[in-house]
Amino acid sequence: MPRSSAVRLSHFLPSLVLLLAGLAAAYVKDLNVFFTSLFNVLPTLVLLLGGAYCAVYRRQRELFLMVTVYIAYFLLDTQTDFYRDNGRVREDAAVVFHLCCLLLPLLFGLFAAWQERTHLFQDMVARFAVLLAFGGVALGLEQSYPQALLNWLAEIRWPALHGSWMSLIQLSYPVFLAAFLLLAVQYWRSPRPLHAAQLVGLLGLFWMLPKTFILPFTLNIMCSQVMLMIAAAVAHEAYQMAFRDELTGLPGRRALNERMQRLGRNYVLAMTDVDHFKKFNDTHGHDVGDQVLRLVASKLSKVTGGGRAYRYGGEEFAVVFAGKTLDECMPHLEMIREVIATYNIQLRNQDSRPQDDQQGRQRRGAAAASSVSVTISIGVAERLMEHRTPEEVLKAADQALYSAKGAGRNCVMAFGQNRRGAVRMETAAG
Ligand code: GH3
Ligand code: MG
Ligand code: MG
Repeated sequence: MPRSSAVRLSHFLPSLVLLLAGLAAAYVKDLNVFFTSLFNVLPTLVLLLGGAYCAVYRRQRELFLMVTVYIAYFLLDTQTDFYRDNGRVREDAAVVFHLCCLLLPLLFGLFAAWQERTHLFQDMVARFAVLLAFGGVALGLEQSYPQALLNWLAEIRWPALHGSWMSLIQLSYPVFLAAFLLLAVQYWRSPRPLHAAQLVGLLGLFWMLPKTFILPFTLNIMCSQVMLMIAAAVAHEAYQMAFRDELTGLPGRRALNERMQRLGRNYVLAMTDVDHFKKFNDTHGHDVGDQVLRLVASKLSKVTGGGRAYRYGGEEFAVVFAGKTLDECMPHLEMIREVIATYNIQLRNQDSRPQDDQQGRQRRGAAAASSVSVTISIGVAERLMEHRTPEEVLKAADQALYSAKGAGRNCVMAFGQNRRGAVRMETAAG
């Protein structure tokens, strides 16, 4: 399902940085020996390292994308080397170049949009068969009917659409455009770092092809950068899997543990827990419960005062205020508690079924209501002499949370605070 909120600049950032670095490097004139030697081995190195990395993570889609880019690099590099050494192009340069202009966007788009669904081995065989089929047919035609193939590729089919800026064969443009639209839709439907990298990578290839014989090392640099984008996206997704909570998009428990090791001398930790959430799940169903958790997480992620929210587990979230005192944080926590308590959640997906009949009956009773609300309780603790380590502070915050629940829920309670001193409101949950 498209979720525009999930579209993030951070998905594109590593690829854009690599693209810009590639563009800048391609325009550098008079490269010294160090860089020319580096660029000569870079694509092969990146393929070996990136390919091994993808294989370890069983990411065949990315592996085949890299192989596709590498094959194009290899074919074109043979031509540019000949051109550089002899000052003229090889006889088959035109047909090879035009074939690459057609097949590279075609296969890149195809492999990029081809999700891994089936059994790993079958998937690999299928991808390999496609690569072999395209490569085999192209090679066969190139060997048997080079002139006819060249004429077919270079033909200007739509003179009205032909611009003077078009330095590739005309067929290449609709293929690039179709691949771009396909990958853009794929990113929109499923915003992931990999899908973003594929889009930027395709743009890099589109930029690279017309410059192949003009700018020295463009080919080596941009092919390396595109393969690096894919490898970086695999790393980015592996990092997200480890540190991000999938349901809410907040950093997860592991990220919190890491953050807790890097807190300075002054900090405040808050533990929050959704009130009566079990009953909420029973009444509205688990799917609605998940929607509510997402919403609570999105509100908590906007906590002011420098706080950072993490999903601790289940319906519990932790908020870290680094370099802050308890008095500084309390108003912000109180504000976020109130924001959540007064927010009317509009239910989507009304007909999602609860898991058993009893839940179903309970839910039908409440089905008329299209909006619900929940409250949260918050326990807070700051670093003091009696609890010095982050783990101790977190435990103290948890005790304060327990007190907040005892004080009637929907309130913020600091560690050691008197129950009657807690800020309270009528609970609206249930
Ligand atoms: P209290 O006010 O005392 O916190 O009551 P509670 O019902 O929230 O109590 P408790 O913390 O024991 O219940 C947690 C419930 O949260 C249990 C489980 O049904 C629900 N829950 C935990 N994780 C998830 C989740 O990922 N999705 C959904 N929908 N529910 C979850
Ligand atoms: Mg709980
Ligand atoms: Mg709870």
